[in-house]
Amino acid sequence: MSDGQASSVETLTEHVGTDIDINAFRSQLLSWYETEHREFPWRETDDPYAILVSEVMSQQTQLGRVVDAWKDFIQRWSTVETLAAADQSAVVTFWSEHALGYNNRAKYLHEAANQIVDQYNGTVPADPDELTSLMGVGPYTANAVASFAFNNGDAVVDTNVERVLYRVFKQVRQADDPPYELIANAVLPTDKSRIWNNAIMELGGVACEKTPRCDEAHCPLRQWCHAYQTGDFTAPDVPTQPSFEGSRRQFRGRIVRTLGEHGQLSLDTLGHRIRVDYTPDGTHGRDWLYGIVTDLADDGIVSMNIEVTAAGTAETNSPDMSQDDKSDVPSSISVSLQS
Ligand code: SF4
Repeated sequence: MSDGQASSVETLTEHVGTDIDINAFRSQLLSWYETEHREFPWRETDDPYAILVSEVMSQQTQLGRVVDAWKDFIQRWSTVETLAAADQSAVVTFWSEHALGYNNRAKYLHEAANQIVDQYNGTVPADPDELTSLMGVGPYTANAVASFAFNNGDAVVDTNVERVLYRVFKQVRQADDPPYELIANAVLPTDKSRIWNNAIMELGGVACEKTPRCDEAHCPLRQWCHAYQTGDFTAPDVPTQPSFEGSRRQFRGRIVRTLGEHGQLSLDTLGHRIRVDYTPDGTHGRDWLYGIVTDLADDGIVSMNIEVTAAGTAETNSPDMSQDDKSDVPSSISVSLQS
């Protein structure tokens, strides 16, 4: 384990407790990002100039609205030199015609291009401190450009990332002054700021939205997420509980939390632990629970095992086993979290 990784684990242990396997946490979010992320053109390039343009454009503007503007801009001014040589009024007019808002950003971007040409020989600086010397580039944008263009930044913490951290980590939620940057940097894998920052921001953008889509978006953090396990999805920018289509999501969370606490459990033991009115053949009994657990297994969150009898066959319910048990689902199924 490198020094950076060791200090990350210490920070997490101190601030969010020890019940998180940070390597699994990181690898599952990165795998999710590989398959689920939206394709934005600036994610397909590592040209620092093109990435700087995308970051300036997306300050206070939704990404979906930036795509066409960014493509047109890069087509028109394909290098930092061509932008520096352009009339500032042409850049401002372009900005306004593409409804990007806050036209000062166009002026600043044009001035930044001239700084890059005059002071850095046309090469966008890689160092976040030098990036902040550019017009209109504050610490957030500098760090984002350093990450996305040079894989050289710290954690990028925007409202999406704050929402994810607040919901996942109980201790962040409970803190008077949540240590977002500290935790965001502790979960950031060493030398992976480009992909990691993209991944956690994307999670906040398409899964952990104000009304979260934990299951629909296959959120990879469900087994660690305090909000998912408790059903409390409030967040700094979501002061009241968002409404959901039903309570099934809440029981999925309870199942994950209960298995996290107790390890493998039989279906009925699990049922009794997650609801007081559980009876194997009741309305909310084994058939109901089996449906939820099957969905969780399909999502790769839990594993189901059938206990095998001494005779080598799976137990099934029959009138001989229990005259009261009317469920078609075998009582011999046990459930555990997938490792
Ligand atoms: S499980 Fe839901 S609330 Fe938790 S991080 Fe994922 S999307 Fe957000």
